[in-house]
Amino acid sequence: MLVATTHSHPANTLAVRLPDDDLPTVHRVAIEHTFETAHRLPHLDGKCTSLHGHSWRVTVSVTAPHLSSDVTVVEFGALKAAVRHWIDTHLDHGTMLGFDDPFVETLTTTLGCKVFRFGADHTASEPETLATDLAWPTVEAVAVLLRRMSQHVLAGLPCADNARVGRVFVRETQLNTADYGPGDTA
Ligand SMILES: [Zn+2]
Repeated sequence: MLVATTHSHPANTLAVRLPDDDLPTVHRVAIEHTFETAHRLPHLDGKCTSLHGHSWRVTVSVTAPHLSSDVTVVEFGALKAAVRHWIDTHLDHGTMLGFDDPFVETLTTTLGCKVFRFGADHTASEPETLATDLAWPTVEAVAVLLRRMSQHVLAGLPCADNARVGRVFVRETQLNTADYGPGDTA
């Protein structure tokens, strides 16, 4: 019966069934944000030992196997607002340092500057707990931090079933990037 119906409506059949429909597919949306933040990598030899800053750019993707009833993966505005708020509050115009970096004491206690500590111990603030296993603020570590943060953000938003944060892409300079996410193509 199904075969007879299909043959009687070839145009409709072509519209809804394509040759690769049996292959795994996924919907993906992405948002971007930029932030101005300093960091220092004293464990590496070279110029990153000096305190310096970058204009960072992050792209957060969210994937879902099927769209929600409102035909979205997640509402762009809500995701963007929450991700941007976290970054602007905790990283923008601040400094990312390793927990043992002597600049932590100078910048926080002495100068009252905004500092986000990677690899912090039990004194970690609530946002810093997302990076206690990441000793230094490399671009790779920043990608991990921002993916974890985005996962928390997404968990609090209405979204499609089984939606998840895909790859998080971070640009440190025009030449240096890192991305972190699922090992598949998501
Ligand atoms: Zn750098």
